[in-house]
Amino acid sequence: MSSRSLLIASALVATLVAGGATQQAHPSEFVDENLLRGHLSFIASDALEGRATPSKGLDMAAEYIAAQFRTAGLEEVNESYFQLAPAHRLNREGMPVLKNVVGILRGTDPVLKDTYLLVTAHYDHIGMNPNAPGDDKIFNGANDDGSGTVGVIAIAQAMGRSKVRPKRSVLFMCVFGEERGMQGSTFYGQNPLVPLMKTVGMLNIEMIGRTNKESAKNGQLEDWTGRLGVTGFDYSDMGSRLVASGKKAGIDVVMDPDASGPFFMRSDNRAMAGFGIPAHTVSVGYEDPEYHQANDHWETINYANMAKVVRALMYATLDLANDPVEPKWADIPATQRYREAWAKLHGG
Ligand SMILES: [Zn+2]
Repeated sequence: MSSRSLLIASALVATLVAGGATQQAHPSEFVDENLLRGHLSFIASDALEGRATPSKGLDMAAEYIAAQFRTAGLEEVNESYFQLAPAHRLNREGMPVLKNVVGILRGTDPVLKDTYLLVTAHYDHIGMNPNAPGDDKIFNGANDDGSGTVGVIAIAQAMGRSKVRPKRSVLFMCVFGEERGMQGSTFYGQNPLVPLMKTVGMLNIEMIGRTNKESAKNGQLEDWTGRLGVTGFDYSDMGSRLVASGKKAGIDVVMDPDASGPFFMRSDNRAMAGFGIPAHTVSVGYEDPEYHQANDHWETINYANMAKVVRALMYATLDLANDPVEPKWADIPATQRYREAWAKLHGG
């Protein structure tokens, strides 16, 4: 060994030692395309028959998600990963017990660990239609919202494996019944597992697997590779926070002026916003040609882009969960009822 390479080697050792105590793999290093492809190929498989609410396929998806939360080492709530929603509490006669799937990654800060960020997606889809044209009668819902479900799983598993832990706790949840009127998220808001007052925000993940999108303005196809939209972008300061987090993974978090407001009402964030919690849905664009079609298949998802988006959302989760300042509704007319709900929740 020459003295020069010895010098380089000792410099390297010094770097490693200096970084030693804090040098831990960042959770974003535990996300890769094959992980996402593997999870989604099951969630959106024909075996689950399109995960209608209620159905055997939906129950199988719930068990799968719970198994992944177990692998991630998440805490159970009330000794279970399932929040059961009996028919009488849903006011739906004849409906079997439905399940939200919930697990907690406990934060490290002695005070902030009793506050929660929700990271969510809906795991149901629209099931089967025997009258659908063609041979394919199963609406697999790979993008809608298998992709968001897999995003929640991937973030939970990566954060579970990493030693880098957030200050606040993160409550990961996959909900039923979005396609039937946001049933699971509404049920959760009415029967919260952690105090709503201590729930600082909700990051809801919808349709992050496709990049061929129809413009909300004119229906023309747009390429959304590398971009992530936020609904109600300017309704709270979460929009601008997500922009900063997205940059760390090379994703441009944007406001689509034609979709931001209207689509705020079209996913589970709406239910939680109604309870006063700053809540937004992130999506790679809005509707795509496969939206609610039988060919929303896992094979045609853009996994390279999806992996980048999931990394961006992991940074967002960490940044939101580490910031001692809670997300706050913007003081604009569009948020009046959400601000009122927030004030009510906080005793105002
Ligand atoms: Zn959806």
